[in-house]
Amino acid sequence: MTAIPLRPLNPLAGVETSVKDRLADLQARAQGRDAKGILHLALVEEFPGKSAIVSSFAAESVVLLHLTAEIDPSTPVLFLNTGKLFGETLRYRDRVQDVLGLTDIRAIGPHPADRAKSDPEGTLWSRDTDACCDFRKVVPLRKALEGFDASVTGRKRFQTNARSNMEPVEYFEGRFRFNPLVNWTHDELMAYIEDYKLPKHPLVMDGYPSIGCMPCTRRVASGGSYRDGRWAGSDKEECGIHVGVGGEGI
Ligand code: SF4
Repeated sequence: MTAIPLRPLNPLAGVETSVKDRLADLQARAQGRDAKGILHLALVEEFPGKSAIVSSFAAESVVLLHLTAEIDPSTPVLFLNTGKLFGETLRYRDRVQDVLGLTDIRAIGPHPADRAKSDPEGTLWSRDTDACCDFRKVVPLRKALEGFDASVTGRKRFQTNARSNMEPVEYFEGRFRFNPLVNWTHDELMAYIEDYKLPKHPLVMDGYPSIGCMPCTRRVASGGSYRDGRWAGSDKEECGIHVGVGGEGI
């Protein structure tokens, strides 16, 4: 396995007091707001023109994207095209863009030089998933977020153990991060998609409740749990874009 340097487990270690105070203020102001209210706090009240949505255009992504389009369809949306996604996801992204009228979706991906150096045959995922996620996801996203003061994710507490204590507002790698859907359940997300007649990812209907890259996503048998199909057969549950690769997990 390729050794990947660990990042600090405490994202606030060494952070200035003024940043900690602002985080405390944002967390207080997020209290009691619904998802759209938290999103409004990020996109309109605090970081207009300096915040970006991070979206995988996967199983439930359309909920956050719909809320975003209602507030401002020109909000930048960063889409990580790892080079290993399902064709269905790429076509779904186009459909969602068309239906919601999003005007600034930015596809980001690994630099060709990194790909040539780290994974010339495109098979790194089969030997070292952490190293593969690092150069295909973590590095490109970190670069794409340069220039933004805040990011917004669609992460939910129910998804993984690492997310179970997640806050609606966090501070990570030099910027504020908002998680408007933090408290939503899977059923609530599905109901929202139905209520607003939003496009469904075709693979969800085909037995994939959680969708990532093609080599690392499996269909889940009836009765299986939500994340069983991600990195099946390993204890990996996060790709590392939202935490240190060796840290406490996306
Ligand atoms: S999910 Fe799999 S294919 Fe995608 S970047 Fe991570 S290891 Fe590579």
